[in-house]
Amino acid sequence: MAIRSPIIVVLGHVDAGKTSLLDRIRNTSIINKEAGEMTQHIGATEVSIEVIKNISKTLLNIYKFELKIPSLLFIDTPGHEAFSNLRKRGGSVSDFAIIVVDILEGFQKQTYEAIEICKNLKIPFLIALNKIDRIDGWKPNNEKPFIETIKQQDQKVQAKLDEYVYNIVVKLYEFGFDSDRYDRIKDFRKQVAIIPLSARTGEGIPDLLLLISGLSQRFLEEKLKINVEGSGIGVILERKEEKGIGDVIDIILYDGRIKKGDKIAFLTRNGVKYAKIKSLLKPQNLTDIRFAKNKFNEINEVYAAAGIRIVADNLEDALPGSTIYVFNKDEELKDIENRLKADISDIIFNTDKE
Ligand code: GDP
Repeated sequence: MAIRSPIIVVLGHVDAGKTSLLDRIRNTSIINKEAGEMTQHIGATEVSIEVIKNISKTLLNIYKFELKIPSLLFIDTPGHEAFSNLRKRGGSVSDFAIIVVDILEGFQKQTYEAIEICKNLKIPFLIALNKIDRIDGWKPNNEKPFIETIKQQDQKVQAKLDEYVYNIVVKLYEFGFDSDRYDRIKDFRKQVAIIPLSARTGEGIPDLLLLISGLSQRFLEEKLKINVEGSGIGVILERKEEKGIGDVIDIILYDGRIKKGDKIAFLTRNGVKYAKIKSLLKPQNLTDIRFAKNKFNEINEVYAAAGIRIVADNLEDALPGSTIYVFNKDEELKDIENRLKADISDIIFNTDKE
């Protein structure tokens, strides 16, 4: 048994700053890469625990706890559409959600939607109260933890921030959630954390990364335990045809392991199909993941949680959103087929809606 990385999704209203926040997290992990090996993924960004420890040093001195998870895996596509391709039986592939709110705008239409989604699928979430640098009179302290930068603001600015936080507390209360600014929370099981931050200046990012790490290992430990030798289970994010390679699928592996040569089962519109993995690809370890687009390395095996590209024959009508199962014994097939078939109407319904 091992503890895998939690899978994190970023939700929120358009323009709240989801993309900027993910960019900031990516850059943070690139800049701090000496602290931990940069592992490249498809459709996801991994921030290793060494990086988190490094940028949250001062916070770790205050909130002394041991970090046990290997890393955080952020799904790269922000927004609610990411969810329709991230389902699994009985819920979502995401273990944790960050709901980004523009501090000056407060709750907006898609903020409400995001909270509904998390509530229905029972995904724990926190609020990233973004753009604190836009509060009148804010003195920026790039990359600093929120609990440090707030102390350096004028009383008036501190009061203004609390007013914004309070508005969010009231909105969440209407949903039945008790919440507070994260540094005032006594029991994280009972209260939703609100983290004021800025994707532009990086203030509050250390708090965000450390808090997600702490909360997920404390409250999701059972969910994150995987058998690293077990047959892989993942979800298909996308299928495409690559010049010179043929059909490929990009998947997020959330349980077990997957190897070159493994047999896989997945859904198409016409039922269950099978394939044998010809190769497993991951982006090359370049400094910037965005330049890694067409440059891949072949690997022999990979463990959850990971974003990976699969090359195989027979993938042409693989359905995004379908679960993908590794099976190495034919006895396992009946059971896998039944599980896949139970999902088909749901997946086609969601695919057609988009
Ligand atoms: P998304 O639609 O939620 O992905 O939002 P974007 O990340 O595209 O951000 C929308 C706009 O807000 C862009 O112009 C960003 O530059 C800006 N923005 C995002 N985060 C911040 C922030 O922390 N501070 C400021 N001042 N602007 C921000």
